[in-house]
Amino acid sequence: MTYDLILRGGRVVDGSGQPSYLADVAIKDGKIVELGRVTGGAAKTIDVQGLVVAPGFIDHHTHMDAQVFWDPYATSEPQHGITSVITGNCGLALAPIKPGDEDAILKSFVRVEAMPRAALEKGVPWGWRSYGDYLDRLEGRLGINMGGLVGHIAVRQYVLGEESVERPATPEEIQRMKQLVREAIGAGSLGFSTNRNERHMREDGKPVGSRLANDDELLSLCDALGELNAGAIQLALGQYSSKHFEMYEQVARRTQRPVIGQGVMYRPAAPTRWTEQLNAVVPIFRAGYRAYLRTHTVPNYRTFTLENTQAFDEFPTWKSLMFADMDTRKKGLADPETRQKLRADLADPRPTTFHRRWDIVRIDKVVKPENQKYVGKSVAKMAEMRGQDNIDAFLDLALEEDLATTFKNANAGGDPDSMRVILQNPHVLVGNSDAGAHVQYNAEFGYGTTLLGLWVREQGVLSLEQAIHKLTFQVASIYGLEGRGLVKSGYAADLAIFDPETVNPCEPEWADDYPGGTKRLIQRSVGMHYTLVNGRVICEDGKITGELPGHVLRNSAYRGHAAI
Ligand SMILES: [Zn+2]
Repeated sequence: MTYDLILRGGRVVDGSGQPSYLADVAIKDGKIVELGRVTGGAAKTIDVQGLVVAPGFIDHHTHMDAQVFWDPYATSEPQHGITSVITGNCGLALAPIKPGDEDAILKSFVRVEAMPRAALEKGVPWGWRSYGDYLDRLEGRLGINMGGLVGHIAVRQYVLGEESVERPATPEEIQRMKQLVREAIGAGSLGFSTNRNERHMREDGKPVGSRLANDDELLSLCDALGELNAGAIQLALGQYSSKHFEMYEQVARRTQRPVIGQGVMYRPAAPTRWTEQLNAVVPIFRAGYRAYLRTHTVPNYRTFTLENTQAFDEFPTWKSLMFADMDTRKKGLADPETRQKLRADLADPRPTTFHRRWDIVRIDKVVKPENQKYVGKSVAKMAEMRGQDNIDAFLDLALEEDLATTFKNANAGGDPDSMRVILQNPHVLVGNSDAGAHVQYNAEFGYGTTLLGLWVREQGVLSLEQAIHKLTFQVASIYGLEGRGLVKSGYAADLAIFDPETVNPCEPEWADDYPGGTKRLIQRSVGMHYTLVNGRVICEDGKITGELPGHVLRNSAYRGHAAI
């Protein structure tokens, strides 16, 4: 048989969580057709010896709804092995929409997701009405695969107009909204999302419409998915509350659809919360219903120097020195007696935002060449290299460099002990990239490359096979992406091919490639060599190839042509 493409000699990590093995992968018509020792010829062969061949990663939490129109690759997603994105999270979607409501919808995107207004005004081509029209508009124009959730904010705006941000809905309006959700699911939407975040407002200061929905409205809209037996439900219920688990349980039970709930992450200021969260979903699963948490692999880093930081303001002696002039500060930090007080401050066991964990504070930049050897190491590691205790090593290094050393501290996440438990939990989904949102504040396309570089290779908290499973098949099965997420015969040839010894994200950098002359942050990676979508290479060593093999991903109700 002649294939379109053969990948020779790679290590297949197939997404199921099973141990990896060496195999050629043969591809024809966008699908994987043979695995193992492939003897046939092919139009093209790529030697991938020494590299891992994994299913392409599926980023389930994005806000790429608009960007895919001007950037069919949803960059920088493919640069990190991502082959499919799911949009429409947190209640925000660009459909359904009535003509004239475009600006009302943009107001939420601009404020909640911090997208530059000029980019949206220039880049969104509008003209659709139903959710199905929106998806059809993208079919055939995509480099990456894309599927979407229908957002509560859009549905509410459609039925209530501007009163959507003013009042609760009537029973009749709830029925009309429910019908719109049914239509969206029938047209292939991958699910429904809502947003009750107390802080989420539109650009004009009004709450996003979904915040005015009572439980009755929310549950009725979720029921549409239960009745159609399709789609996932993403509930963004706002600032952490243990009460949210009651809503997850209720929705999961009455719809029997998978529910995706709050983020779970180690936070020094609430050090036991993550275990409470993990424990809270167990009874839901035990009863037979699905309510997942999602975690972020990228620690919430803050860089600081002792020239100027608020990191230690919770500790009185530290704070007084940080408010003193430079000379007094340096003398204080060097003085053995003051150091005793600094030490005592940090020994106080009350929870603080600064975690006092020197194994997760890293040296980011140094001034003196002889200190270069500490860059990238933790303060604990540097202290070991210098034969000092942590606090002496930290302060002495800073003092040697006139307090100009840059440190990098993980305010949340970043702790290997909790990450091991969180990542290994089968009820936790990986990925919280928010890609496409906050484009001038952060770029976390590299949640997958961070998982592989930091948590698998460096910290060893997860096996490569487990990590790939979390990035691929787990997501595909929860969101109903049939035929994707595994390296298996008959499955779509969405593949990420990378070097497990080097794969890592790079620091975000500025780019001028957004519409309306706006800027945004992009993120490159190292070690990710090829990203294939439906059998075609869309990204090679970080460069987009120009192919457009992506599909709109639609749910099982659409594929089965269920009567809606
Ligand atoms: Zn979001």
